[in-house]
Amino acid sequence: MLRFPVFSTIVSLVAALAVASPSVAQKYEPPIAALPANVQWHMKMAYLLMNGDVSEKNIPMMFSGIATDPKIVKPPYNVMEDNKFQIATKAFDQLYFVGWNYNGAWALKTNQGIILFSTMATPQEAQDIIEGGFHKLGLDPRSIKYIVIDHAHKDHFGSAKYLQEKYHAHVLMNAAEWDMPPYPPQPAGALPISPMPRRDIDIVDGQQLSLGGQTVTLYVTPGHTPGSVSAIIPVTDHGQKHTLLLWGATGLPATLGPTPRSGGLRQYEASLWRVAKIGIDAGVDGLVAIHPIADGTDVKAALAAKRKAGEPNPWVIGQSTFIRYMGAFIESVQASIDYHESKGEQ
Ligand SMILES: [Zn+2]
Ligand SMILES: [Zn+2]
Repeated sequence: MLRFPVFSTIVSLVAALAVASPSVAQKYEPPIAALPANVQWHMKMAYLLMNGDVSEKNIPMMFSGIATDPKIVKPPYNVMEDNKFQIATKAFDQLYFVGWNYNGAWALKTNQGIILFSTMATPQEAQDIIEGGFHKLGLDPRSIKYIVIDHAHKDHFGSAKYLQEKYHAHVLMNAAEWDMPPYPPQPAGALPISPMPRRDIDIVDGQQLSLGGQTVTLYVTPGHTPGSVSAIIPVTDHGQKHTLLLWGATGLPATLGPTPRSGGLRQYEASLWRVAKIGIDAGVDGLVAIHPIADGTDVKAALAAKRKAGEPNPWVIGQSTFIRYMGAFIESVQASIDYHESKGEQ
């Protein structure tokens, strides 16, 4: 059993690009014969669009919305128990990741302070991993001016109150997340629920957040939760411009329609289509996520550490790969929708 159930629904977008090759696409054959034909078709579409860019161990996560029956979808490997390790890396000239290989935070450095995206799970993680990672990277946590929380799950807001009180940073979240009903009782051994930060700024759709001459654009992309937020983040790599999409909330909802704590699969898919279009218009050529397992930052940080002058930035995937991944992601969600509908869910 997974200790943290949320992990089992993380969709892996980009993991293990380093080992990508066309032959990988043929290696994993999900036992999908028992599923309805339209579900199989969307799973195959997702799989072929990925073209081997998702590692075999992560492929099952793409289809985690289909079934929990291990005969249909193999359980993902359990990062909670498998070799947990810490990451502190500079991904772009002004963008840094601190975390461990399951969860973390992105820091955008400007000449007037830092915008922090997500805050991990606990004040202890803030001290050990965010402040500790900042120290390793030469960043000053006292310069955190804004904290953007992509959604109000405990693994994302858990140290926001600590950072808000210690550094007087502004905390931003969509109103639907501030208003989300409290967690139901958690199973034994589950991640603790830290206190919420004091309500500060409500993110509205299309909001631009500027600091030190840099501007990120925030979009409300419901699905994983009622008011999940994604961001378009312009960066540079050795001075060369790139545009990133931070897809704010990766795990697939358990229902087709919205619930008090979820936006539902249909809204999730609509948000993906919308962000795909926004991403094309913005020229997105790189994807990042809060969970390294979803954007491959666990692998890419290691590549970045060995990167030599002139070698490509591991987080830059190009516009056409960006849209191919969005297509694969949309197909995996559509497979889940069709699966739920085949069970008679409305
Ligand atoms: Zn979540
Ligand atoms: Zn999460």
